[in-house]
Amino acid sequence: MLMQDIIQSYLDDLIPLRRDLHKHPELGFEETRTSAIIAEHLEGLGLEVQRGLGKTGVVGVLKEGSSERTIALRADMDALPIKEENDFAYRSVNDGKMHACGHDGHVVMLLGAARYLAETRNFNGTAYFIFQPAEEGGGGAKAMIEDGLLEKFPAQTIFGMHNRSGLEEGKFSTRTGNIMASTDNFHITITGRGGHAAMPHTSIDPVVIASQAVTGLQTVVSRNIKPTDNAVVSVTCFNAGTTYNVIPNTAVLKGCIRTQTSEVKEQVRTGIDRVLSGICTAHGAKYEFTFLPGYPVTVNTKEETQTAVAAAVQVVGPENVDPDTQPLMASEDFSYYLEKIPGCYIFIGNGAGEGGPVSHRSDYDFNDGIIHLGVEYWARLVENQLPAKR
Ligand SMILES: [Zn+2]
Ligand SMILES: [Zn+2]
Repeated sequence: MLMQDIIQSYLDDLIPLRRDLHKHPELGFEETRTSAIIAEHLEGLGLEVQRGLGKTGVVGVLKEGSSERTIALRADMDALPIKEENDFAYRSVNDGKMHACGHDGHVVMLLGAARYLAETRNFNGTAYFIFQPAEEGGGGAKAMIEDGLLEKFPAQTIFGMHNRSGLEEGKFSTRTGNIMASTDNFHITITGRGGHAAMPHTSIDPVVIASQAVTGLQTVVSRNIKPTDNAVVSVTCFNAGTTYNVIPNTAVLKGCIRTQTSEVKEQVRTGIDRVLSGICTAHGAKYEFTFLPGYPVTVNTKEETQTAVAAAVQVVGPENVDPDTQPLMASEDFSYYLEKIPGCYIFIGNGAGEGGPVSHRSDYDFNDGIIHLGVEYWARLVENQLPAKR
């Protein structure tokens, strides 16, 4: 029987499971129901299963033959704090929580691959199936690594896959090197001197100074960063004052920074500090600038990217695989694994952009029509990387 036919025969199980997960979304590090379902599935397939790694993470181990070769495949499990606005039968029953990034689909694609490989066993080596909590800002990958993931399950390479809104169904894309940005946050407090709104000359007005800072920060990227480098600085929060007739003591600005290399990140960091220093000095105010490091840059290694592209080509043909896509300014905690071991993060098309579902939106839904492609990609990857003895 062909691999594709075997995988097709799983869809009657995988699609209802995907919709069940969609209906019961859980936020980062709270994925107890989801991880219990995953663990039971893996145990049912005969895999050795470790629960509770990185709080709610699950790892399944599938060993065949005598080869020392190992590979890890990773899916994320968490949902987002969004109120779902879809009206289909399997919409979220957990108010204010929603699978708006397709991690429900990621889980079933990896479970489908575990089933295929457990049933067919056409490989030689060990495959680790990693189901990770809290990708959406919680750093579940870091939590699993700190909990000993890579020592307990010593994978030589690791692979990740994410659905991509706007990439057509039946297509894959990836690239060697940086594919996703790093994300860092900042917190700025500007301290002036409060006073009566009718006597501004007796105060140092932090509202006016912070307003200039917001405008000044727009030049960090546009005037200081080389145009061919990628960077974003967004001020997303501006809090000051409480009422009409009082100039407050302080103003607080918060925001985020996205960059594709650590050098550019450092240029942005020092640029923000320089702008704040200049503006605050000009007005006699003080400032405190706190840089809050987040996910690192996601960097695919060359050999593993070639491996991933080859597997995707087997699934959808060379014309449907882009091996050199543009890096995104979004970020991924898969980066933490890639800091430790070689691997590749690939995108699978979730459907056309125009009028189609957009991730992190309240009307998003994972496309069940791509499940079989994701399962086949994972299965090919393992069979290629851990070749069976002939
Ligand atoms: Zn997301
Ligand atoms: Zn996601």
